[in-house]
Amino acid sequence: MQTGFVGLGAMGAHMARNLHRAGLLTGVWNRTREKAKALAEELKVHSFANLAELAGNCEAVVICVSADKDLREVVAGLEPGLSPNMIVMDCSTVGKDTVRDIYAQLAALGVGFLDCPVSGGVEGARTASLAIMCGGDEAVFNRAQPILEKLGKAVALMGGSGSGQATKATNQIMCAGIIQAVGEAMAFAHEEGVDLKKVIEVLGKGAGSSWYFVNRAPFMANNSFPAGFRVRLHDKDLRICREMAAKHGGVLPVVESTIDQYGKLIAEGHGDEDISAIYRLKSKLFPPKPESM
Ligand code: NAP
Repeated sequence: MQTGFVGLGAMGAHMARNLHRAGLLTGVWNRTREKAKALAEELKVHSFANLAELAGNCEAVVICVSADKDLREVVAGLEPGLSPNMIVMDCSTVGKDTVRDIYAQLAALGVGFLDCPVSGGVEGARTASLAIMCGGDEAVFNRAQPILEKLGKAVALMGGSGSGQATKATNQIMCAGIIQAVGEAMAFAHEEGVDLKKVIEVLGKGAGSSWYFVNRAPFMANNSFPAGFRVRLHDKDLRICREMAAKHGGVLPVVESTIDQYGKLIAEGHGDEDISAIYRLKSKLFPPKPESM
């Protein structure tokens, strides 16, 4: 299937490369055009002038942009070029109501739409080992599967439109608790004076381990948090979780305390760092030692 890719950020650029490797990528579009031109040149695919042109030259479109408003803008841009039986897949993490609106908007044009948010980080995007949780019609999912399988290892249809985002929100709540626990544990280990590399090596195989511990505790040990999953993106996700929980009358303490801590990081200018930057706050839970004062 001739596929176009929209949104060549930390995740999208790798995902587009994987589609290219599978011989599926027709061309790309990115808001900042230089990124699209550079990738198109590298892969020898089209850099489309606008979204309608991309839609008009493809049978399927994969989107990976930041937030709800961005997805709505992209879909509006694609719309004039869309034709019946096309498939649009959105891998961004956005609200359930947004994807349901878009599902209905595109269904009126005879276009299939799947919410298919992903998990597995930039590493998962690069190695095509993402977990992809989809919401939408089974027939559309079956047609889209050959594309999605080139992006991830675990691809599942969770139910109707929006159920992919409901599953992703569940994941983001877990990530919040885990990154807080890993940050707190690493700050504690640092205070204890144990060799942090050895801690990661041995505990990486222990019961308290997790993807975040194995992949992000090393960032904490180095006190360096290069952009992987940006603080401001997880903050956006947790606000979605908060809103969804509120619709059921619930308040989630892990979500609330993580939003509070991310607010501090963003105010201190760390919003574009990886979420392992929470270690900056966890380190401050211990008073400075007299010799370093
Ligand atoms: P990113 O590096 O910040 O890239 C965002 C992309 O969206 C860029 O290509 C950006 O274009 C584009 N974009 C933003 N607003 C737009 C708009 N209004 N119109 C058109 N394009 C727009 O983000 P990312 O880390 O790749 O994440 C993308 C999505 O995947 C997010 O929803 C995020 O929550 C989700 N996600 C991320 C991770 C992760 O580990 N990073 C993991 C799972 C899921 P420009 O180049 O012009 O800025």
